[in-house]
Amino acid sequence: MEQDKLQMIRTQLIEELKSVERQLGEHGATANPDEAVEVSTDEGFADSAQATMERSEMLSVIEQIQHRHAEISGALKRMDEGTYGKCERCGREIPIERLEARPTASLCVSCAQLSS
Ligand SMILES: [Zn+2]
Repeated sequence: MEQDKLQMIRTQLIEELKSVERQLGEHGATANPDEAVEVSTDEGFADSAQATMERSEMLSVIEQIQHRHAEISGALKRMDEGTYGKCERCGREIPIERLEARPTASLCVSCAQLSS
């Protein structure tokens, strides 16, 4: 694989990881899904149905961000291990165009279609 492109994707992933971590921080969460989230609710509203709804909405947002975080750190880990860009299912190389469009892709196009 072209090293300069790989380097570019890596920079992009690291930037995104930082922004994802920042988002998690803003929500009072960490990248660890097992860690309890301290969702701050306005005083007086803590027991209301509205607060409960907002809390569960926020938790699902956090879950999505954590999922994204796992995808990105997984891709960076594969780069470190030298397996980045190989399809996890069939082992073929994922075209660089696909990786540029979707840097966290771990499956080639045909395997991604099979699994979706
Ligand atoms: Zn494949």
